[in-house]
Parts: sequence; structure tokens; C-alpha cells
Amino acid sequence: MDLHLKDKVVIVSGGANGIGKAISIQLIEEKAIPILFDKDEAAGKRFVKQFPRSHFMEVDLNDSFACRKSVEKTEKKLGRIEGLVNNAGFNDAIGLEKGSPQKFTQSLNNNTAHYYSLAHYCLPFLKQSMGSIVNIASKVAITGQGNTSGYAAAKGAILSLTREWAVELLPSSIRVNAVLPAEVWTPLYESWLKSFPDPKEKKRQIESRIPLGNRMTTAEEIANMVVFLLSDRCSHVTGQWMSVDGGYVHLDRAI
Ligand code: NAP
Repeated sequence: MDLHLKDKVVIVSGGANGIGKAISIQLIEEKAIPILFDKDEAAGKRFVKQFPRSHFMEVDLNDSFACRKSVEKTEKKLGRIEGLVNNAGFNDAIGLEKGSPQKFTQSLNNNTAHYYSLAHYCLPFLKQSMGSIVNIASKVAITGQGNTSGYAAAKGAILSLTREWAVELLPSSIRVNAVLPAEVWTPLYESWLKSFPDPKEKKRQIESRIPLGNRMTTAEEIANMVVFLLSDRCSHVTGQWMSVDGGYVHLDRAI
């Protein structure tokens, strides 16, 4: 199926590693132009070397001024912005007991503010192109995880913002959807797993509870949904939360 994404300019936050990288590669495969907003300079530069169609902006997404500058630079360079994938995030384990009000606020801010900043600064250009936004959330927003209040609250806020922006942007025909991964093997996931005494055993336990195939979702499987949602093949879908997780959240895990 042709997704009609050829030459579409799409910003991908956290596009240099993990799920964001898979999304950027999928966009390349669809002949779109991914713009990677990421702080990992080495990974970003490697990506552009491998895929010269892409662009890399080194940006600390926690700095809203830097978000603004990078969005403006993108538009100046390419003349348009047709898609935004808000993807960067960090499960920072700021819990209720093992945390503090200050750390909670910071975690919430670090995991949501740049979603808002990028959408806010991209909006004038998305209005011109009648573009689309995809927000990456997490199953943690639905299920909880324990010991990660800031991240859980942020991902819940991202689901709410998806609905809120979908409504606000109806008059501009800008569609806004969210994708909820559960267990996806990425550098972030690997470092989280290493926090357990026996990471191999923990991985085995997790995989055994994933209903479809007792395996993790691949980053490519998340990317497939994201590019589909970005495309005009999805032209009457907005405000949706799409779980791409082998049935992890919605099927009976006692089976
Ligand atoms: P990842 O492997 O850590 O990749 C994220 C990328 O974003 C990295 O390049 C990281 O740079 C960059 N980044 C993070 N914060 C940034 C910031 N403030 N400024 C600039 N760049 C920043 O993460 P992932 O596992 O692919 O996760 C991507 C998204 O999926 C996140 O929103 C995460 O919450 C969500 N998710 C993932 C899973 C999973 O199983 N992996 C499950 C549910 C939800 P550095 O490498 O330099 O930090």
C-alpha cells in the first residue's frame, strides 16, 4: 500500500535511537523526510550518514526555547512541516515512596512539556499543511507499573492531550492520535532491565506474560502503526489511543 508520504517532512523527537529510530527508518522507506530531534549527537549523525534524505537537529527537548528554534530551523530549511511524532521519553522511576514532590514535578515536566512545546511551535506549519500528530504514550498510563509516579502521570497526561488536541484541531483538519507500546526492546528498555538483580530471568518472565507470541513488540511494529496514523490512509481517525502490544493491556494475561 502506498501511504502517500513521499517527500513529507516529519519531525521525530528522540528519533536517533530505539522506537524513534525505527519510526525514522520507516519514514525513509516511505520516501518521507524524517527530521530527528535528539540529544544523542553521535547517533543522530550516524543516522544522517546512513540515510542522507534525513536531517538531524541536536536539541535538548527539555529546553522549550531550543524546541522553538529547531522547529523554526526545520521550516526554514525544508519550507514545510507535515507531521510531528512526539516520542522522546524516559521512565525515571520517581515513585511515591522513593521520590519527592520536587522530583515528581521534574519528571512530569521532562516527560510532557516538550510534547506540548513541539506541538505548539509546529502548529502554524501543521495548519498550512493539514498535517498530523502522533504522540507516543505507554501502557503504564493504563496499567500503572509501581515506583514510577512521574512517568505514569506524564503518559496519562499525554493520552489526555491527544484527545484535547484532537478536539481543538478539528477545524484545522489536523488529526492527533496516540500509540501505546508496552514491552519493546530498545536501549532504554535494556537499561531499565539491568536495574533488576537477574535481568535475563526478568525478561523471560515479562515475555511469558505477553499474550500474542510470548514475545516483545519490535520497534518496527510500533513504527508501522505510527506511519500509518501519519498517512492519509488514516484520514478519518483522530483522538485514538492505539495499543500495539500483542494484547498485553486488553487481553486476559491469566490465560
Ligand atoms: P530510547 O531507547 O531511550 O530512545 C529515546 C531517544 O530519545 C534517545 O536517543 C534519547 O537520547 C532521546 N531523548 C530522550 N530524552 C530527550 C531529551 N530530553 N532531549 C533530547 N533527546 C532526548 O527510548 P525508547 O525505548 O525508544 O522510548 C521511546 C518512547 O516510547 C518513550 O516515550 C517511551 O516512554 C515510550 N515507551 C517505550 C517502551 C519500551 O518498551 N521501550 C514502552 C512504553 C513506552 P539519549 O539516548 O541521549 O538519552
